[in-house]
Amino acid sequence: MAVPKRRTSKKKRNMRRSHIKLKVPGMVTCPNCGEYKLSHRVCKSCGTYKGEEIMSD
Ligand SMILES: [Zn+2]
Repeated sequence: MAVPKRRTSKKKRNMRRSHIKLKVPGMVTCPNCGEYKLSHRVCKSCGTYKGEEIMSD
């Protein structure tokens, strides 16, 4: 098994991780209103899920 010769420096480790956590996970656009919403959740702005209205304000 390959073993690293040197411990990865903080700089290199942070450089490697710089591109992760950039976007919010599970965010999709709502097909009804186009607003960002969490996937598999009722849309907060229009209250629909799978084309059906669940919440009404
Ligand atoms: Zn919506």
